[in-house]
Amino acid sequence: MSCPDCGKRVPILFNALENRRCLECLRKARIRTIREQQKARNLNRMKSFEDGELFVYVNGDKAEIGKVKRKNNKGDGYFCYYHEGETAANTPLECMYKLVNSYTIKATTLGGVMEEE
Ligand SMILES: [Zn+2]
Repeated sequence: MSCPDCGKRVPILFNALENRRCLECLRKARIRTIREQQKARNLNRMKSFEDGELFVYVNGDKAEIGKVKRKNNKGDGYFCYYHEGETAANTPLECMYKLVNSYTIKATTLGGVMEEE
């Protein structure tokens, strides 16, 4: 067996370890994961949305326009409208992107209410 990251031979004993990496690469990968989680948390702390704000929801290669109803109870996302109905879906903050020119959208039917400017 060899480590997929550095190609170093890995003892058969280590085969059960995460992705069969050598101990050094395993440690590096864990540090990377922790750094990525910290970065995501910091990003989430900086990102916030107002009630009624329009945003873009991104899921893989698809995007939808959404409208914020209110912050969720855990504080890690928002209840949002994506349809004309009154049902708001709990949406994680990391899938929500700022729609910087949302001021150009004067009205939507999201959430079933058509507000006038
Ligand atoms: Zn390695």
